[in-house]
Amino acid sequence: MRLESPLPPGATVGILGGGQLARMLALAAAPLGIDCHIYAPEADSPAFAVSAARTVAGYENFAALDAFARQVDVVTYEFENVPAATAAFLQSRKPVAPGVAALETAQDRINEKTFISSLGIPVAPFAEVSDLTSLEAALARIGRPAVLKTRRFGYDGKGQTKIMAGTNAAAAFAEIGRQPAVLEGFVAFEKEISVIAARGWTGEVAVYDVPENQHENHILRQSRVPARIAAGVADTARAYGERIASALGYVGVIGVELFVAGGQVIVNEIAPRVHNSGHWTMDACQVSQFEQHIRAVCGWPLGPADRFADVTMTNLLGAELGRWRELAAEPGVHLHLYGKKDPRPGRKMGHFNRVTPRQP
Ligand code: AMP
Repeated sequence: MRLESPLPPGATVGILGGGQLARMLALAAAPLGIDCHIYAPEADSPAFAVSAARTVAGYENFAALDAFARQVDVVTYEFENVPAATAAFLQSRKPVAPGVAALETAQDRINEKTFISSLGIPVAPFAEVSDLTSLEAALARIGRPAVLKTRRFGYDGKGQTKIMAGTNAAAAFAEIGRQPAVLEGFVAFEKEISVIAARGWTGEVAVYDVPENQHENHILRQSRVPARIAAGVADTARAYGERIASALGYVGVIGVELFVAGGQVIVNEIAPRVHNSGHWTMDACQVSQFEQHIRAVCGWPLGPADRFADVTMTNLLGAELGRWRELAAEPGVHLHLYGKKDPRPGRKMGHFNRVTPRQP
């Protein structure tokens, strides 16, 4: 279903997933007078504490999904692994944004790369892998080093392994669980950047400034804006983000992760949702990515994506949550904690934005 007309204040956005992204979406919806109903299987989901309504049920519980659909005006989600049948079921009852096409493209790395290349946008050389024979053929074609990734359900470096000159192919395939996979050429990048863009039901687009992202152990550590890249690189990245969103008929905020290598801009992957590398927008832009997503899915006019400050966003992982007191005392630091109880190593517990006056 499409959204026929803008949802008025008092409407309810249904969100699949109850993690920090859903929590920050609900917090951004509140000043617009929009309520959020969170649907998540985990009874201790961080978003529940700040939302008007909740459903605790599995994503394949169709009776619960039906009841949820009746109580909301539009459905969105905070993670890309929403089962296809769940999205299709909801879409037959209420508008779902981003739509099923965006989900299906982003959920499968082969579909994703094929789609992006079809738009004339560079991706790393890649080949489909279904068994050891096809992996060996792919290695012969693409060469080493290469990265072997599961086609589906990979995130934060999970489900992927690097294949170096001496790596045994069978061992690498075993490491990712012998699942259908993609082999990608290793990109010797100078920088990782991303594009956070929003597109509305009527096709209008707003694109944020490009952050420069630093990962540690495959997990985002820091995003810095402005990125230390040439203006032409930023323009190219933004244009790619806009082209991808438009080609998908996308509604909502999209994150596109890119490499900069030898001055070339290469797309790594797309995330059909608000994105960790866009958290800096909360304190450095007139309208954050979270408010922008709510505006987009509700059919409201998109807000300005202009940035009024320079900013570094840093994730607080696991026990780093313990820094809250020191960070709360630091002028120019905006602290965002997710209310998670268990600070497991590597778990995203919060982030902070260190904001400084915008340099010309
Ligand atoms: P992904 O799960 O695709 O987002 O990959 C996680 C991280 O692994 C990326 O942010 C890169 O730092 C690294 N990576 C992934 N694919 C490649 C590649 N083809 N070449 C070099 N580094 C990669």
